[in-house]
Amino acid sequence: MASLSTPVEVLPTVETDVGYRSVVRPSPPPDVRKLAKVPFVELADKRVQGVVSSGSDIARVYVSSIRADDHAFSCSTNNNRPCGGAGATMCKHIESLLSEAVAQYGFDRVTRYLKLDVDDPTTNLRVVLTDAHLERSPSSLVFSRFLSYLTYLEHPVATAPAPELHWFPAGGR
Ligand SMILES: [Zn+2]
Repeated sequence: MASLSTPVEVLPTVETDVGYRSVVRPSPPPDVRKLAKVPFVELADKRVQGVVSSGSDIARVYVSSIRADDHAFSCSTNNNRPCGGAGATMCKHIESLLSEAVAQYGFDRVTRYLKLDVDDPTTNLRVVLTDAHLERSPSSLVFSRFLSYLTYLEHPVATAPAPELHWFPAGGR
């Protein structure tokens, strides 16, 4: 008798997620201070220097800097491989670094630091940095400073102010 019974085929429900599929993607966060792109920027050691994420490889970062007095710039990966984009002109990492330095410290402070005589805050710094030139310098120092700053983030309960973290923007800016 059992052999006569037709096996019940349980069909998968085909309409499971129809109707739940959204065509509206979440919009990206607003462009304020692009932490993901430039996680670290500082005015230190007579340089504007920092760490810039690679646009294509999330595991790679560039250590970029431009010296205040003679505008010699340098860009290499955290493994000290020279940036292919830096040469006769600045690479996009230095440009990102400069624009994030302005976002963080303000146009006046950055231009004064770089000894640039410009008043118009809409000026593209690349245009006025006519004497900028490549000078390879080791990335290890800047990168180790970045890593030492990161160790502060592992102590979120610290109540004393950490002046070394001034570069890290407070939330909501
Ligand atoms: Zn570069």
